[in-house]
Amino acid sequence: MAAYRIAVIGLGKIAQDQHLPVIAESADFTLAGVVSQRGLDIAGVPSFRDPAALLRDLPDLDAVAICTPPQARHAIARAALAAGRHVMLEKPPTATLSELSDLAGAAAERGVVLMTTWHSQYNAAVDAARARLAGERVARLFIEWKEDVRKWHPGQAWIWRAGGFGVFDPGINALSIAVKILPQKLFVAAAELVVPVNAEAPIAASLRFAGEGDLRAEFDWRQSGDEIWQITVETRAGRRLVLSDGGGRLDIDGVEVVAAPRREYHDIYAHFAALLAARHSHVDARPFELVADAFLLGTRRTTAAFAD
Ligand code: NAP
Repeated sequence: MAAYRIAVIGLGKIAQDQHLPVIAESADFTLAGVVSQRGLDIAGVPSFRDPAALLRDLPDLDAVAICTPPQARHAIARAALAAGRHVMLEKPPTATLSELSDLAGAAAERGVVLMTTWHSQYNAAVDAARARLAGERVARLFIEWKEDVRKWHPGQAWIWRAGGFGVFDPGINALSIAVKILPQKLFVAAAELVVPVNAEAPIAASLRFAGEGDLRAEFDWRQSGDEIWQITVETRAGRRLVLSDGGGRLDIDGVEVVAAPRREYHDIYAHFAALLAARHSHVDARPFELVADAFLLGTRRTTAAFAD
């Protein structure tokens, strides 16, 4: 079968680090165009300043991968779906839950595929943790996701604005793993959001989840030194699972069980190709619902101004 013709919209860090190289290596996809509001070019591929021009000028385009900040995604995705193109949404999929459900409805109505990508879910260690936790009861969950924002998000003004998610931009990756591996549903019981006086989005957040056991998450962008992207789960039966390296490694009771090289975006594109072949959408709102609930329930504390 001929490769699907795909365009990448928004040529920022994740587009350049992952989407473009993975598409270049993929047998399932051919890069047919790019959209860059700054006017960046990719050799040999038509480049457009706005998505409307892409959709108008490339009538044989099959799909788009939207890699802009979340605030811009709904309008772009809506137009692509209306034009009959399949859509892959980077995480977090939209700025609001109602925008995401609108896109899911539009994709179903138009008979095209919509896929939410939660890249951290695509790890062998995550699948292994899910299998080990099936049927268990959780006594303790501790999600620790701490990184230096200056290292990971330099100059990203949008991330500090309303709808930019702040520390939940990485934190939602942890939640995407948690909803995949845990044997029970998670519900936010309480949250504290710490917001710099000069920002609209939090620099740190603490979450407590409802239910039996001690279930908590700590997200912090003020980390100095190495990042900590770790989820610890202790079961009622006394087993201790530690998922570290952002979901790349699993230790059980102190013994390494899985440490696989990360191929998240190769697996994301393979999944997208399978969805396109089957004409099925994959829309998972669960990590996003937890973040929305943290914003709904959370108390806010102001902290010192942040200077990038
Ligand atoms: P980024 O480096 O700031 O890139 C975003 C790009 O989107 C910009 O460079 C710009 O590219 C385009 N854009 C379109 N509309 C924009 C607007 N209104 N404001 C700012 N830029 C706009 O961000 P990123 O790190 O690639 O992250 C993009 C999304 O991918 C985020 O939702 C993030 O959570 C997700 N993600 C990031 C990573 C990562 O490691 N960075 C990993 C996984 C997922 P043009 O000028 O070319 O249009």
